[in-house]
Amino acid sequence: MSEFTVLNPATEQPVTTVAQPDAEETDAAIARAVAAQRDWRAVTPGDRAGLLRRFAAAVDAHIGELADLEVAGSGHPLGQATWEAGHVRDVLLYYSAAPERLIGKQIPVPGGLNVTFHEPVGVVGLIVPWNFPMPIFSWGMAPALASGNTVVAKPAELTPLTAIRIAELALEAGLPEGVLQVLPGKGSVVGQRLVDHPQVRKIVFTGSTEVGSQVMAGCARHIKRVTLELGGKSANIVFADCDLERAAATAPYAVFDNAGQDCCARSRILVQRSVLDRFMELLEPAVKNVAVGDPAAPGTEMGPLISAAHRRHVASYVPDDAPVAFRGSAPDGPGFWFPPTVLAPVGAADPAYTEEVFGPVVTVTPFEDEADAVTIANDTPYGLSGSIWTSDVGRAIRVSRAVETGTLSVNSHSSVRYWTPFGGFKQSGLGRELGPDAPEAFTETKNVFIATD
Ligand code: NAP
Ligand code: MG
Repeated sequence: MSEFTVLNPATEQPVTTVAQPDAEETDAAIARAVAAQRDWRAVTPGDRAGLLRRFAAAVDAHIGELADLEVAGSGHPLGQATWEAGHVRDVLLYYSAAPERLIGKQIPVPGGLNVTFHEPVGVVGLIVPWNFPMPIFSWGMAPALASGNTVVAKPAELTPLTAIRIAELALEAGLPEGVLQVLPGKGSVVGQRLVDHPQVRKIVFTGSTEVGSQVMAGCARHIKRVTLELGGKSANIVFADCDLERAAATAPYAVFDNAGQDCCARSRILVQRSVLDRFMELLEPAVKNVAVGDPAAPGTEMGPLISAAHRRHVASYVPDDAPVAFRGSAPDGPGFWFPPTVLAPVGAADPAYTEEVFGPVVTVTPFEDEADAVTIANDTPYGLSGSIWTSDVGRAIRVSRAVETGTLSVNSHSSVRYWTPFGGFKQSGLGRELGPDAPEAFTETKNVFIATD
């Protein structure tokens, strides 16, 4: 068994050491999940709902501990990490209502009674990235458990601590052994085995488009179900008729939250040319006011990047001759810090404009009119998120329908609300998570005809 040392990204100091399972141990965990699923699917819907509510209560009783783990192990600001732990509780509570509502159909047919059932797929393999270790874990885990599946989850190698603790809380809450297992191993070992193992019936993957494409190809060998949440290069479209003060004041948080390590980051700001100069005047103080610093300090809005390697990657998009319009601040000394950075004017072929940076770097590009804004917004292989700022209701609706992305907000930057579906168009993904339909995505529809004659 190999070991991995988790580093605090704000200090570069070790937090703890985690034992990493190998492929054989992954196979053993999958065998336990297969056995546990036979019993878990037979737990009555009301009892399954009750266990998920107890699990949510156990998370609720440990919000502070989970938040502290995420601050130390992932560098998330304390306020954000506290919200994330509460979000896990909320997602569990929301889907705790699902077992009692997995309702099939009675379809009128001649000669008998026809009914449909939502049967669990079986064992679900959940592959989680390092950027939002708690929320993304909960989005796959909670609806999968609610609809009678067992889950083998692989957190990112860099950020395993909160998922490990949440799985312990599941056991303490009374979920049977083997129903939810967390394997904090390498993607190339544990993740690959989940994809290749025939008894894992569905993969839920969040991460890069590159690895997601390999995962999808691996799943194809077994016709394995797969949900993919991949990268993004989302546009924040600012029309001249909007509340420009609010648009400028909120734009930094739409891209610099989580230090830009967010697949929904609005990393391309598109501004109608007639208000470009005024927008830039308003944006500069907003960017400089982002509170970057010690994640454990109250009031911190942005922490460090996840790792030294990732900081090198982000920095490669801002070479010495980059068109930096202005930058915010970042601490000196240890820690993987990178200041909020605004690039303008930026060329249409500049990698900072075309590629997902996954760091606190945003570009500003002018557009002429509505049609131009839509063309520029859609000129990317991605299609995850985006924002539209306008006071014209008709325009808000037209542009919302024309932008090819899965999750849009008008006069706001909301992306992920657990009540509503989340996922991407084009190379940003496949399938949807969250919302009222998520439990059905972990089931197969079975049709049964019973002859009456
Ligand atoms: P990644 O390499 O795609 O990793 C995502 C998850 O997949 C991790 O748990 C990883 O495990 C696992 N994995 C890696 N190779 C695998 C394989 N062959 N089979 C199965 N699972 C495998 O993403 P990353 O390296 O963390 O980040 C790279 C880029 O991905 C980012 O810069 C960003 O562009 C994008 N990203 C997007 C999101 C999103 O929410 N859409 C999240 C994170 C990253 P290990 O950690 O052990 O390698
Ligand atoms: Mg990787």
